[in-house]
Amino acid sequence: SFKALVVESGDPYTALLRDVSLDELPPGEVLVQVAYSSLNYKDGLAVTGAGKVIRSFPMVPGIDFAGTVLESASPDFRPGDEVVLTGWGVGERHWGGLSQMARVKAEWLVPKPEGLSLHQTMGIGTAGFTAMLCVMALEEHGVGPEGREVLVTGAAGGVGSIALAVLAKLGYRVVAATGRPQERPYLESLGAAEVLERAVLTAPAKPLESERFAGAVDTVGGAVLAGVLPRVAYGGSVAACGNAGGAKLETTVFPFLLRGVNLLGVESVMCPRERRLRAWERLARDLPLNLLDASVQTVDLAAVPELAQQILAGQVRGRVVVDLGA
Ligand code: NAP
Repeated sequence: SFKALVVESGDPYTALLRDVSLDELPPGEVLVQVAYSSLNYKDGLAVTGAGKVIRSFPMVPGIDFAGTVLESASPDFRPGDEVVLTGWGVGERHWGGLSQMARVKAEWLVPKPEGLSLHQTMGIGTAGFTAMLCVMALEEHGVGPEGREVLVTGAAGGVGSIALAVLAKLGYRVVAATGRPQERPYLESLGAAEVLERAVLTAPAKPLESERFAGAVDTVGGAVLAGVLPRVAYGGSVAACGNAGGAKLETTVFPFLLRGVNLLGVESVMCPRERRLRAWERLARDLPLNLLDASVQTVDLAAVPELAQQILAGQVRGRVVVDLGA
């Protein structure tokens, strides 16, 4: 048997560390010995029960993992291969990565990208993968480093930290918006040219403020996103991927109508395989690994329930890697 975090249904909603046997694992072509998982905002919702992320019980949470193939019924993977998984409903509908073993569909796995360690792939994890999808979306809509500055909201969080580090490395002038001004030294170490207090964005705004940003990566949603749109310059784009600050968007259509601003939705769970592989390649190339390592804290499985509360409270800086002790 092996250790896993298991969420049982019922009242109270509890995530307990327990022994699980191989025959309890769901069906799938590939059995993976998990080396690392990570803690994303959605894992915080799943582990605490604060959001209805888990669809069936009992469930092993953990929306991403990296590890080594032990058994494979697929020609695409062999025992010993190092693999990475993000998304596909794993940790929501299918037992996930907060476990020493996982059995999944072969098509959900990607080979560990060259140039990254298993630990680094989970330092990136779903959050960093999503950050890269946001960067790619902005690039595809013509936002480039030679133009005006770009904004990252929720900058001290997981998606935000990685988006900031990648954009700065690519030569953008990056403004980092945060509700934690004490994280200024951290944000500057990742490459922020300027730190903006979140309150500037949530204060009442006119439908159009002065044109400032060529683009933005928004991980917060709600009032923050509503404060970003009026400040985007003519033809600019906002990649929206998060709702840590609220799901409701109250704004006007004027940035779209009068400035041709694009609001780009970014989704990581069902991202098609080819784009997935491209995003991982880009991460291996465009994310400075020293900055990644400085943004990551590594914990063991027992620490996850406590950290799940903290990530929902906006108190986690950067990324959390969970070491499964492989
Ligand atoms: P995270 O590490 O907790 O980062 C979220 C950041 O948002 C926090 O660090 C904080 O940044 C800010 N924030 C938190 N609560 C807030 C509030 N009440 N009001 C305003 N700002 C707040 O979480 P994450 O894992 O990076 O995920 C970020 C968001 O992206 C989440 O909503 C998550 O669900 C979403 N996401 C979506 C996808 C997708 O496929 N679309 C994939 C991954 C993540 P500061 O302290 O710097 O202000």
